Amino acid sequence: MKDIIIIGAGPSGVSAALYAKARGKDILILEKEQIGGIIGHVSKVSHYASVDKNETGESFRKKLEAQLKYSNIEVVYEKAISIKKETDKFIIVTDKDTYEAKKVIYAAGSKLKELEVDEIKSYHWPFGKEDLLKDKLVIINGGSDGAAKEGLYISKFAREVHIVQDKDKLLCIDEFKKKIEDSSNIIVHTSEKIVSKVSNSEIKLSSGKTIKDKDEILVFVQIGQSGNSDILKNLENFDLENSFVKTDIESTIDGLFFAGDIRVKSVRQVSTAVCDGTIAGIKASQSL
Ligand SMILES: Cc1cc2nc3c(=O)[nH]c(=O)nc-3n(C[C@H](O)[C@H](O)[C@H](O)COP(=O)(O)OP(=O)(O)OC[C@H]3O[C@@H](n4cnc5c(N)ncnc54)[C@H](O)[C@@H]3O)c2cc1C
Repeated sequence: MKDIIIIGAGPSGVSAALYAKARGKDILILEKEQIGGIIGHVSKVSHYASVDKNETGESFRKKLEAQLKYSNIEVVYEKAISIKKETDKFIIVTDKDTYEAKKVIYAAGSKLKELEVDEIKSYHWPFGKEDLLKDKLVIINGGSDGAAKEGLYISKFAREVHIVQDKDKLLCIDEFKKKIEDSSNIIVHTSEKIVSKVSNSEIKLSSGKTIKDKDEILVFVQIGQSGNSDILKNLENFDLENSFVKTDIESTIDGLFFAGDIRVKSVRQVSTAVCDGTIAGIKASQSL
């Protein structure tokens, strides 16, 4: 049986692991995809203290991966599918195995919401798709920081970028707003939704107008996130708000801790995820 199992190797899970390992605990991280979490996919990691000028999600996630490796922290690439609490331990079943732990830190973060128009093929992340974007007309759906940042990245390669969002103004930070205003190839459509595909080269918006090109239009979606909370349904005493868990880092279930974006919180950034992970790693260790 492990002292602590951490579910998720995003910034919060990695931080929790580093602090618990330093306290001599026998720990294991379960990760379903790749070390780094959602930030590992972004075109640029902005504003987090210590990042390089052009830190990409990929370079940032590789640093986390290297840190786990030189800290001798074991990561198993399996998807946790259920957590059960017994008197003095937790049983975690994954898609491949079953594990036992005295304490669990749930740091499973969130996933991006999908466009609810099935007939339109869409993507989330432009990083790594630069060749595909070249000279294309691209629509990015969403108006918050994530959409604005990825839209700006797309505009370096695409011929024209159309930001389509349902609010009456962009909701992103001033830094991105200014760059979008100064851009010569970004067009913003406010109070609009993507409703259907007329053809591969024509997309219809809610007002009835269409965005049209001579070639296939690529659609990227950044319309928010939902919490990865499905596997918590078997546990009692859980309060979810739009799929995120309403909880302190130390939950009402003895021995179960929560860290990072999975929690209901007003600011979801790497710094707040790392902060949660630090506290969870230390508190879980102290409780053993
Ligand atoms: C488009 C976009 C741009 C952003 N840009 C910035 C930025 O520039 N600066 C900044 O500070 N923040 C940024 N953020 C926010 C930042 O990415 C998050 O706040 C941070 O990644 C949260 O970390 P986390 O560890 O809580 O969760 P996540 O990063 O979501 O990591 C959770 C991990 O858990 C794994 N997992 C989930 N379910 C399971 C399971 N059942 N079993 C095993 N593993 C599982 C996932 O695969 C993932 O690796 C951005 C977010 C988005 C969406």
